Amino acid sequence: MTHFTTPAIVLRRRDYGDFDLILTVLTLDHGVVSLIAKSAKKSVKRFPGILEPFAGLNIVYNQGRGKGMMVLEEASLESTFGTLRSDILKTAYASYWAELVALWLEEGQTRPDIYRLMVFVLEHLVRDDVPAALLSLLFQMRFVGQEGLRPVLERCACCHIEVDQLAQQHFCIDLKQGGIVCHECPGPESTQLRLGKGTLKQLLWMADGDLPTALRVRFTPWALAEANDFLEAFVPFHIGRTPKSLGFLRQVRKEGGRG
Ligand SMILES: [Zn+2]
Repeated sequence: MTHFTTPAIVLRRRDYGDFDLILTVLTLDHGVVSLIAKSAKKSVKRFPGILEPFAGLNIVYNQGRGKGMMVLEEASLESTFGTLRSDILKTAYASYWAELVALWLEEGQTRPDIYRLMVFVLEHLVRDDVPAALLSLLFQMRFVGQEGLRPVLERCACCHIEVDQLAQQHFCIDLKQGGIVCHECPGPESTQLRLGKGTLKQLLWMADGDLPTALRVRFTPWALAEANDFLEAFVPFHIGRTPKSLGFLRQVRKEGGRG
């Protein structure tokens, strides 16, 4: 039997029968993996309360018998990302990021870049040193960038004229064309999504380079909000799926004032 040992983050957990749990984890070495944790609900000795969403673990698992699901053998807690579950806004953001990863990545596709990005945003979310909304911009920009779905923000997605050569200060977004469109070009059916020139440049600045430097961008609350409205429409549109947790995130944000 082949055994796999890898660091992993729990993206999702659900009950399976009376005793077992099914976990979806993002691993460093093997990408997204679904695992069954047998008797996890019954025996606290094997997995003592650590198989929770966003827990950072070291896990050992095996292929199980035949073509069945991977079976979790051992898990030890490596990080305290789980503590963010006491904060509803942080939980909402982390759930959205986790669902994007689970929806988009194919099982077993090795993606250390996405793993490191996830660890980076969760660490800052727990530490509380950066607004959650700013971490979400970074996560979404890097996530789509790494998937080759980066939005066109440096020029009009239709006529390709550079933003710096255009006098206008606000741009409509055309999701189908993959970015901003200038006033001269046929725009999208709905002009609800807009980005200011300053916000565009800040988003572009976050798209490349090392992660800690990207977090030094200073957004006004208004720019943070319009940038997240844009990415929360753009990312689901381009991955072709709408995460259920996005509705929850919007609800929590609305009730708590914009966070
Ligand atoms: Zn144009």
